[in-house]
Order: sequence, then C-alpha cells, then structure tokens
Amino acid sequence: MTTPITRDDCAARDAADPLAPFRDEFVLPDGIVYLDGNSLGALPRATPARVAELVEREWGQRLIASWNDAGWWDKPRTLGAMLAPLVGAAADEVVVGDGTSANLFKTLVAALRLNPDRRVVVGEAGNFPTDLYVTQGVVELFDGASVRPADVDGGGLAAALEPGDVAVVLLSHVDYRTGALRDMAAVTELAHAHGALVVWDLCHSVGALPVALSQAGADFAVGCTYKYLNAGPGAPAFTYVARRHHDRARQPLSGWHGHARPFDFADDYEPAQGASRFLSGSQPLVAAAALEASLDLWARVDMERVRAKSLALTDLFLELTAPAGLECATPLEHARRGSQVSLRHPDGYPMVQALIARGVVGDFRAPDILRFGFAPLYLRYVDVHDAATALVEVVESGEWRDPRHARRAQVT
Ligand SMILES: *Cc1c(COP(=O)(O)O)cnc(C)c1O
Repeated sequence: MTTPITRDDCAARDAADPLAPFRDEFVLPDGIVYLDGNSLGALPRATPARVAELVEREWGQRLIASWNDAGWWDKPRTLGAMLAPLVGAAADEVVVGDGTSANLFKTLVAALRLNPDRRVVVGEAGNFPTDLYVTQGVVELFDGASVRPADVDGGGLAAALEPGDVAVVLLSHVDYRTGALRDMAAVTELAHAHGALVVWDLCHSVGALPVALSQAGADFAVGCTYKYLNAGPGAPAFTYVARRHHDRARQPLSGWHGHARPFDFADDYEPAQGASRFLSGSQPLVAAAALEASLDLWARVDMERVRAKSLALTDLFLELTAPAGLECATPLEHARRGSQVSLRHPDGYPMVQALIARGVVGDFRAPDILRFGFAPLYLRYVDVHDAATALVEVVESGEWRDPRHARRAQVT
C-alpha cells in the first residue's frame, strides 16, 4: 500500500506550483476553502478599481464622450478579442454581450436558418436547464421543428444523427452535473459528417481548460464569464461565430448594435460584417468593466499549466475522499474530465450544507450530486487536502444528519 498524501506533501506541491502567485490576485475570505468557482468565480483584486474608474471617470467626468474616448461602443469586440485566445478562436470570431441564454437563442436560430432543409435540433438529455428550455422555445418558432435528446456520454449521438435530418446539435463541452468533458473535435466531425452544425456551450470549460474551437472546426459557441473567468455575478456572456459563417449567419435579435452602419439610423436592418452581427442592443458596461479586469489577468495565464494543475487537484481530491465511500460521477480518465469532481449520495444536500458550515464551500445539484469545482488560479493543494479531510469527517461522523443542514435555501 502507498502511504497517504500528507498536508506537508501538499504544502511542498504548493511551494513548487508555478501558478501559486496568482492566488494573491484574488480576494478570498478567511477560513473558507472555495470549491464553487465553477458557479461564481472569486473576485480579482484589480476589479473594484477598474469598475470605479468606469463609474467615476469614464461616466462621471467624461459622460457621453466615453462612447468614443473610452472605447465603449467597441467593448463587445475588444473584450471578444481578449477572450478569443481562451477559446482557441481568432479575435474577430468572438463578441461579448448579453447572457448565455440569449446567446443560445441567437446561435440556435442562426444555425437552423443556415440548414433550412432540416428541422431537428439534437440536444443532450440532462443538459443545463436553460439549454433545454431555450431549445424548446426555438423549435416552437420553426414549423415542423423538433428536439431529439441524445445520451451523449452513453454513445447515443451517432444514432441521433443517423436519420440525416439534424440541423444543429447543441452540447455542453463539460457537463455541469458530472464534469464529463466531451471530445470537441471528434463530436464536431461526427456532426458535420451527418450534415449538422454544432453549437458548443463552454460555460464549464472556458477558463477551466484549453479550448480549441477553430481547430475543432466548431460552428458556434456560447459561454458565460462569471464562472471560471471571475467576471462577477451576471457578467456579460460571449458568442463565437466561425469565420466561414460570418457572411451568411442571421440571428433573430437584429438590433441596432448589430447593424452594418448603426449611426446612419436607417429604417431597414442590414447585418454588420462578422461576429458583430450577433450583437443586439446596449450592453451593461459597468459589468463589462469587471470582465475587462478579469481578462487582463487571464491574458497572463498559461492554460496548459491551468489544465495540469486542475487534473492534479481533482486527482488529489478523489484520492483523499475515497475513504468516504461515495460514488464518483466524474470520469476518472483525464481526457474525459473537466475541472470538477461530482460525488453522488441521496443525502448530498445536507452533506454539502454540513461542509459549508465547516467553511468548505461546494454545491448540490439535484437529485444527488455533491459538486466541487477546482479553480487552479486560487486553490492550493493544502486547500484540497483540508476540504477532502472535512468531507470524510462529515460523512463518517454523520454530522450532516443535524436537522439544520436539511433546510433548503432558494439557491442551492
Ligand atoms: C451556468 C450555465 C448557463 C448559464 O446561463 P445564464 O444565461 O448565464 O443564466 C448556461 N448553460 C450552462 C451549461 C451553464 O452551466
């Protein structure tokens, strides 16, 4: 038997960690191990000053001049260009704006219009609710359109594509519940071989691992910036449009920010060139300033290092929590794992609450998933050690049975 990893071993790994200096760039409350950065990322220290600058100087002093002088009008494009390397895209293929749900709507409709002879949208059974609900809303708008759910990790995608009637496939790159990572290049190729386009949802992969949209030949992608990218609650989302679709893609929320010449104030819509045509209206620029501060930080990050540390952290957590005896829902194979560990137990909710009471913050996803996200920029190996130790103690002691841990809050 190998000797168990000690807290000292973990401290030594922290001392040798090339990403360790990034931890100081985040605000992290004392006494907490934060394993929920996959739901709401931690606050970068630089963010409050950047937001204050926008409010006090750009807005307060410069007023309307900031649309030109502070680059407000072009923010969706300049932030998109900053984000592009994180998703393996060219600068002009990404725009920032609106929310993930709205961008799902725009890209799904655009994909259906690009593939007009087909009316089936393949979605994933068990995908994040908004992906399912927006898909259901989109097919209601197209005569004869329908949704065909596929069990992606169970190998059901090929059969769903087989009839040759699929216009578009919408998939999460990393499953929000299990943390399963999908092979973007292989799935995209399979869909294309069957004449279907693909929309990738990157909510749980952007900032968590290297993403290579262009290399995979992806058509469209969307994702949020408040999870692994640390841009703050409700931060603007992004849309990727492959350059080969720039001239023909038409999205339905054809507002003036997506017009070819918005300051002509013409009566008729004419889409802008490139990914800009996926913009609609004015954006929350105060929130965009917070995203800008995050992206400045992310520009200095080596994603290969993030991936290596993420896998090391999740391996460590899996090893140290094994004595708790909970079933693991996350693939053990590195190539199929995102940056989270999901464990299953019917009493997962009170177990997570008992852990939070000890300062270890994870979350619960119905019906039975205890979910722990690992953000390599601000988590240390010793944090993982402490969290795993707490989990084993909570399960073995039965302290989660205290009735106060069973009370459900509005947000789980
Ligand atoms: C978090 C998440 C979303 C969020 O959508 P919003 O419009 O930002 O609320 C969408 N899809 C997936 C897969 C997610 O994990």
